[in-house]
Amino acid sequence: MPYRAVFFDLDDTLCDETNAWRVCSAGTAALAAQRLPALDPAAVTAFFLDHSDAYWRAMDPISETRPIHAIRTAHWFATLEAFGHPDNALAEELAHDYGRRRATELALFPDALPLLTALRAAGKALVLITNGMQSTHVARIACLGLEAFFDHTVISDAVGMAKPDPRLFRHALDLAHCAPHEAAMVGDNPVNDIADAQAAGIPAPTGGEIRALSELHSRL
Ligand SMILES: [Mg+2]
Repeated sequence: MPYRAVFFDLDDTLCDETNAWRVCSAGTAALAAQRLPALDPAAVTAFFLDHSDAYWRAMDPISETRPIHAIRTAHWFATLEAFGHPDNALAEELAHDYGRRRATELALFPDALPLLTALRAAGKALVLITNGMQSTHVARIACLGLEAFFDHTVISDAVGMAKPDPRLFRHALDLAHCAPHEAAMVGDNPVNDIADAQAAGIPAPTGGEIRALSELHSRL
């Protein structure tokens, strides 16, 4: 185990964010179809997923200042509008329903806790680095029971930097008191987590070949 510190991404690395997003979207689309029986819940789900995916991919977590509920309400309004029902009150109700689902649906991948437990037992410094909003991610980290495993948690909008900003990786190195070659970055995103960590001199042993966290025990 050659590294003194291990940095982890959160969404779709330690927890199955994509599945939670899909399940919650379908659940709220079913509610929309209860309110408006002419709606096809599968079509509503598909539109909402496409619309919100495009938003989150383009979103700059530093410049976005709206509360998460306002963002979700806008996405549900756009979805209703696309199906001929630009209804603000229903969009509000759907955003509340979606928020309640998102607060409880998320789960860790089954091999996440065994890996984190082993790394802590080996004395590694662990830092969680996530592009996200304090308003959602502090609760998300607590709900997943991850606080106890990490020496430091870096949420992009709390520190005013987001991946792939190399300053974010330098900030994590400072927190862990180690040089780039003494740390490893574990993440699912080939650009933000892998290429940009490597550009900052931080090895990323997940690059392209790792399919499960359980494969990392002997590499960290
Ligand atoms: Mg990720």
